[in-house]
Amino acid sequence: MKVRLRQTREWVFDLDNTLYPPESDLFAQIDQRMTQYVSELLNLPPDEARKIQKAYYAEHGTTMSGLMQEHNIEPDSYLDFVHDIDLSPLSVDQTLQGAIAALPGRKIVFTNGSRGHANRVLAARGLNDLFDDIIGIEDTGFVPKPQPQAYAHLLDNVKVDPAQAAFIEDMARNLEPAHALGFVTILVHSDKDWSHEPEGARPAGVDDDHDHVHFTTGDLAGFLKNAIKD
Ligand SMILES: [Mg+2]
Repeated sequence: MKVRLRQTREWVFDLDNTLYPPESDLFAQIDQRMTQYVSELLNLPPDEARKIQKAYYAEHGTTMSGLMQEHNIEPDSYLDFVHDIDLSPLSVDQTLQGAIAALPGRKIVFTNGSRGHANRVLAARGLNDLFDDIIGIEDTGFVPKPQPQAYAHLLDNVKVDPAQAAFIEDMARNLEPAHALGFVTILVHSDKDWSHEPEGARPAGVDDDHDHVHFTTGDLAGFLKNAIKD
């Protein structure tokens, strides 16, 4: 697998909690916006809305996917609403910038968030000029990871060849289909407490161990630098 990693020519990165540290707590803001959306949509108090939000997240991959299937919501206005957050907790990361810039071949962002959100986050991290392609949830027909159709888009339309590609994620469940397709899988973990999120749908913790994960790291920039060394 070390050899496979060294020969990698396509790098597929998740965005949220992968290309910025979970400690910046952006997800808490998005999470709150989602609760507010569900609460207004279904006319429910926030604690009731939150239960529905999390149930959809666990069952459908994203809350939005559940809302679309169960309540026929309009995805673009939902995405605008939930991604309307304060990005000031993010800062430019020159170490990660250098590490990604040094990777050979094609670099792609593949996110369950919107393309607009990805562009704003990448700009705030100083990573905006490094990627050849940004695939947002709009591009997969609003089908999120880990559903197979999302990965099919990556292979069929973006023409990623898993045999020479690596998949980098903070959510172990999103690496399962990637592993099955033949990607090298890299799980980025942190020591942040995610126990309030539904089991099986949490970002990785330091003790995470999965058969479908080839590598785990708490330091993405350091890992990438090492990965391409002889
Ligand atoms: Mg993520």
